[in-house]
Amino acid sequence: MTHNYCIHNHKICQYIYNDRKKIGYEKNTGAAVFPVTNLFKKELCVLLGLERHGIYSDLFNLCAGGMDKKDNGCFLQNAQRELKEEFKIKCNKLWADCNDKTDNTEVYESEDYICFLFNATPVFIIGISNISTELINKKIEKCNCNRDLSWSEREMYKVEYFSLKNLKLIILGYYKGIEYRDASLSKFATGVIQHVLTHF
Ligand SMILES: [Zn+2]
Repeated sequence: MTHNYCIHNHKICQYIYNDRKKIGYEKNTGAAVFPVTNLFKKELCVLLGLERHGIYSDLFNLCAGGMDKKDNGCFLQNAQRELKEEFKIKCNKLWADCNDKTDNTEVYESEDYICFLFNATPVFIIGISNISTELINKKIEKCNCNRDLSWSEREMYKVEYFSLKNLKLIILGYYKGIEYRDASLSKFATGVIQHVLTHF
């Protein structure tokens, strides 16, 4: 059983639980991350991952997943864990792991994200530096070969930056990938990207 409240009492987590109640959705869906960067200082890009399994197999998807017992009912922890497991990115912009700090008295909220609910799933937009996909993909490959790791750490084939400008065209169906071998997006990613393109 996972908690149905955030044990850290984050305001944002409370809002998410309340909003989900309002739309009549109390089942836990987990959280998603929308990592953006201004790649080459000119194009706003989002990092997506090519899924290996499940309903989104062989489609590019957001970094996302269900809440785990170890997330303590916290969507920030949930999102950050997914980022680490699926995209191999260690980040403390959402939730500062107090075990990681020398001064471990404080758990704090960061202002470094934008959060919105897509259907019932909180999506966290965070800025990331231009992390090399080559580096991430090497880590992903290594993890995928390691059968000692859980499935949750071997979910992606690779990650790729997609410019929001191109995604708009992909979604409209006009863009045939030049740089991307296959630009097929999951239904979830398509919905979230559409939301971002129209609201931000
Ligand atoms: Zn929380």
